[in-house]
Amino acid sequence: MNIMKKLTDNHVHSRFSADSEAAPEEIIAAAKAKGLGGITFTDHCDPDFPKEGGSFDLDFEAYTKYMSELRLLYRDDIDIRCGIELGLRVDQKELLEDIAARPWDFVIGSIHVVDGYDPYYERYWKDKGEREGLRRYFETALECVMKYDCFDSFGHLDYIFRYVRGGCLYTWEDYKELIDGILVTLIKKNKCLEVNTAGLAYGLGYAHPCPGILKRYRELGGTLITLGSDAHKPANVGFGFDETAALLRELGFDSYMRFFGRLGQSQLLG
Ligand SMILES: [Zn+2]
Ligand SMILES: [Zn+2]
Repeated sequence: MNIMKKLTDNHVHSRFSADSEAAPEEIIAAAKAKGLGGITFTDHCDPDFPKEGGSFDLDFEAYTKYMSELRLLYRDDIDIRCGIELGLRVDQKELLEDIAARPWDFVIGSIHVVDGYDPYYERYWKDKGEREGLRRYFETALECVMKYDCFDSFGHLDYIFRYVRGGCLYTWEDYKELIDGILVTLIKKNKCLEVNTAGLAYGLGYAHPCPGILKRYRELGGTLITLGSDAHKPANVGFGFDETAALLRELGFDSYMRFFGRLGQSQLLG
C-alpha cells in the first residue's frame, strides 16, 4: 500500500513568499506526481521583517484569489487549501491577530525573528553566541505560544539547531524546561505541534521537532500534530513523508490534523 496516497502536505510555499520562486501550479504538479491527496499552501506573512531578510509581506488579495481559483481548477484531482505561515513576534499582537482573522483554511505560527534578528543570519549569533542564541529562541517561542491564540499549529519547533554555525554543542535536552513549557502550553490550548520534514530535506537527518521532542510531547499527553514539508520548490513537496509517517506511528500517533476554514479534521497517517 502506498502511504503517500493518503497523506496531504500542509506547509508549502510558492512565489507568493519572498523566498520562493515556485509557481503554485508546479507545486501542485509535484504533489500529484507523488500521489498526495492535498496541499495546503502556507505562504509567509511576516510583517516588518528585519532588513537583511527582505520583505515577507503577503499580498492577501492576490494570494487568496489565486488560490481559490486553483482550488476550483484542480478540485477533481487534488484538494487545495489556502493558509499562511504567520511569523509570531512578542510585540505585534494586534496586527498579527487581524491578519490571522482573515478567511484562511489554516494558520501556522512560527518564530522567524528573535530580538529583532532572523537567526538564519550570522548577525543573530555574533552577539549572543550559541548557547544564548538557542536559549533566546526557545524563550521567545514560549512567550509567543502563551501570548497568541490565533494560530492552529506551531511550526518547526527546533529548526533553530539548523542555523547554529560550525557544529552544535547543545541538544534539545539542554533547553528541556523551556521546551516542556511550550509543549504543555500547546496541549492546554488545544493547538497542534507541527511535524516539518524540512530537516530531512536539508540533510539534518530528522524532521522538526526531533524524535526526542515528539516522544516528550506524547509523554506530556500531546496528540495533535500537523504534517508539512515546508517545501519552497516542487522537488521538496511531500519530502520524507513515508519515513516520517512510519516514525510517528511508532511513537504512538495514528493521525494528524488537517484544517479547513480553521476547523481541524483528523486524518489517518496511513
Ligand atoms: Zn518557517
Ligand atoms: Zn515555511
